[in-house]
Amino acid sequence: MTRIADDIKLDFDDVLIEPQRSELFSRKEVNIERTFTFKHTKETWTGVPIISANMDTTGTFELAKIFAEYKMLTAVHKHYSVSEWEDFIKNNPSILNHVMVSTGVSENDFQKVKDIMKITNDIKFICIDIANGYSRILEKFVSKVRKEFPEKIIVAGNVVSKNMAEVLHESGADIVKVGIGPGSVCTTRIITGVGMPQLSAIIDCADASHGLKGHIIGDGGCKTAGDVSKAFCGGADFVMLGGIFAGHEESEGEIVTIEGKKFKKYYGMSSSTAMKKHSGGVKNYRASEGKEVLIPLKGSIHKTIQQILGGVRSTCTYIGAEKIKEMPKRASFIRVNRIVNTVYGQSDGLNL
Ligand code: 5GP
Repeated sequence: MTRIADDIKLDFDDVLIEPQRSELFSRKEVNIERTFTFKHTKETWTGVPIISANMDTTGTFELAKIFAEYKMLTAVHKHYSVSEWEDFIKNNPSILNHVMVSTGVSENDFQKVKDIMKITNDIKFICIDIANGYSRILEKFVSKVRKEFPEKIIVAGNVVSKNMAEVLHESGADIVKVGIGPGSVCTTRIITGVGMPQLSAIIDCADASHGLKGHIIGDGGCKTAGDVSKAFCGGADFVMLGGIFAGHEESEGEIVTIEGKKFKKYYGMSSSTAMKKHSGGVKNYRASEGKEVLIPLKGSIHKTIQQILGGVRSTCTYIGAEKIKEMPKRASFIRVNRIVNTVYGQSDGLNL
């Protein structure tokens, strides 16, 4: 018989974080760096646990240099050639601790990861990413990569449920990437009807992963700095952002001028735009599961980064968390019907 789960699953917009009595007065007292020790490898990593998404507009070498200044991470997209990686590695040896090499699950992808890792020992993260992390091909690929690279920090996804988070950790993943359908240019929920509200996906997967000494990335669906804080409060160890970082001077994407106003293109990696660019078009047996949007040019990305980091610091002072790691312990969520007053329109608060 068809099953319907009737416990309520929530999204970022369904909750607010309740303020707590706190000794913290200034945002300066908050430490937004975390040090991680991982499940399978002996490696540790210290930095600000926010990751630019492995999309060809946001997971670029150009942005990686900027995010590294803030000790953040960039999941570099999988469409750079090995020789482009060679140049990047040669010219930026000091920031390799802040990049992830992204890969799909084909034999060619595997070979390419091996070729990139041969160039340097200083890249620690491999991000194995497929849209449907429930496919058994992912588990098998994660095991293969774990065997080849016992010392690397392996990210695998995307999934949204406890049991799959556990399966991926047991296959060799240190970090599980969580999110099916929440992305700003994702149409999976519309095209397939599949998905899970992102905050609940994070809460469920964090519970499973932390029980196994693993970690999770909350990937997709953050529209504001407040959503980033909600993801951390829900138990995300890292938060991955695409749309928030797209549309800036420094992000990749064609600029389009309409009636004198400048826009930058941002599109899903399963959109027909991306498929035309990287695989010669949409194959006739599949539908595109992403869309293309025009973002009014946002100016410099530095301001956006500072707004997000400032927002997270401020959340910490409201709930009395001295560091990001304490956020889930300190936070309690309140279910709400409305999160903002929209009488003067709706804003993401980032470009004011
Ligand atoms: P955003 O921060 O823009 O809300 O979400 C970024 C995330 O959306 C990415 O990290 C990735 O997981 C997801 N994503 C990117 N492109 C596509 C796509 O074409 N289709 C789907 N379903 N998800 C996408």
